[in-house]
Amino acid sequence: MQRVFVKLAVLTVAGFGLAAMPLRADNRATPKGPDEDGTKPALTRIAGEGMMNSHAFGFLTELSDDIGGRVTGTPAERKAEEWGAAKMKSIGLENVHTEKYTIWRGWTRGTAEGEVLAPVRHRLHVDAMGWTGSTPAGGAEGDLVTVNMFDIENEIKHVSRVKGKIVLVTTKGKPSKDEMSLFAMFGDFLKAAGSAGAIAVIGGQGGGRSTGMNLTHTGILGFNADFAVPVVSMSAEDQGQLERFIERGVTPRVRFNVQNTFTNGPVETANVVGEIRGREHPEEILVVGGHLDSWDLSEGTTDNGSGAAATLGAAEAIVHSGQRPRRTIRFVLFTGEEEGLDGSFAYMKQHQAEMKNHLGNLVIDGGQGPAKSFHLGGRDDLVPAFRAFADMLLNLGITEVDDRVESGTDTLPFSIVGLPGIDMGQDSPDYKYTHHSAADALEAQKPDVLAQNATLMALTAYWIADRPERFASPWPAERTARMLRAQHEYEELKAFGLWPYGELGEEKKENPQN
Ligand SMILES: [Zn+2]
Repeated sequence: MQRVFVKLAVLTVAGFGLAAMPLRADNRATPKGPDEDGTKPALTRIAGEGMMNSHAFGFLTELSDDIGGRVTGTPAERKAEEWGAAKMKSIGLENVHTEKYTIWRGWTRGTAEGEVLAPVRHRLHVDAMGWTGSTPAGGAEGDLVTVNMFDIENEIKHVSRVKGKIVLVTTKGKPSKDEMSLFAMFGDFLKAAGSAGAIAVIGGQGGGRSTGMNLTHTGILGFNADFAVPVVSMSAEDQGQLERFIERGVTPRVRFNVQNTFTNGPVETANVVGEIRGREHPEEILVVGGHLDSWDLSEGTTDNGSGAAATLGAAEAIVHSGQRPRRTIRFVLFTGEEEGLDGSFAYMKQHQAEMKNHLGNLVIDGGQGPAKSFHLGGRDDLVPAFRAFADMLLNLGITEVDDRVESGTDTLPFSIVGLPGIDMGQDSPDYKYTHHSAADALEAQKPDVLAQNATLMALTAYWIADRPERFASPWPAERTARMLRAQHEYEELKAFGLWPYGELGEEKKENPQN
């Protein structure tokens, strides 16, 4: 999902203060890797299937070219669900089905046109942000007025000054609050600006500039957040010129015509599910997946067609190898990820009763590059055991294992319940251009890299599901709450109303019972 605050260069969090732990660095405990735990022969066959017979790039080509952009709840996304279920069946997965749920409301992109009328006149390159509204039919013009993202609380107080204007969001000085609070308040500002009568807001990048040459990047502006005022992402070149006029004291006059459509009520969508049933403990489940939905400025290849195709490729490699793991591997193509991880949150709700039997989930959603690392979603207790497995993957490019929580994709709901939401970290330097942009097409994905990622996913899934000892069980609430706070997830979850643990895990209070 990679929400807009990630784009605030000044605010970007570079990490969580956890030192990356290199492989082989820790020899205290010697957990068993594939050479000792009996999984190696099966893994070798799966690797052979994955590298020699993969159809992952064929899957991605179909999804990109024949279905294309697939916004959750739209006909294209429904077509992708049918396609995903058909693929799972043809691969030979068992129990293939869809699991329906609804999102709060649907949205369809229409047109977005912009023009600067004075002091010069030319077209502006803009695209609407998801789940934002429309100008009056035929468009409207107004003077540009700037608001400072870093002082957004104050801007809300003086919001009446944006009436009849087009708002340009900028960043000046130092942030008045932490990034999560600012981003949550940005939503409050957009609501207030809409009510105050602003024509449109140039603020898709939260005051930052759009990355890449003449590219815009769409996206959602919160978890399940919609706004009546149209909010656009503008190319860096156009935005830069407007900012320079303002700095010189020249007020540009701008015209926008933005038309989008909301549904009146909730819309239906569905996760697509298929399994390889376990041979000894079929009731114990590892979830493996990526997200099937995408944005719509292009084909949704790198976000996250590549992940969906890697998931199907991983399933194919295991099924075709003829190996059946001890426990069940449940492949899930999530929808609703881009709107706020809705598919994975819906999964947690629908499978609450069997959550104690889950081992965690394994997700790939980092674009087009090769997988290089595994982030174990808060579970530091699992790092040594996992490292014993990952040691075997050095030839396949894996160099790092840590316990970082990845909150920008479908791993987060699993980490929230104390299960390892395992994220495959990828080296994708071009993702900043293809992410949510018009450049997110098949051209961006190299077939050999995709096949290797699918193979790595298959090996990891199989090893977790098949090793003699159960890999993980959910942590108790208190331990989970403490971990989430230590990994700085509390601020975001709290700001967006997703924190489930109240005061649990708070540092400052000494608990007399302990
Ligand atoms: Zn994604």
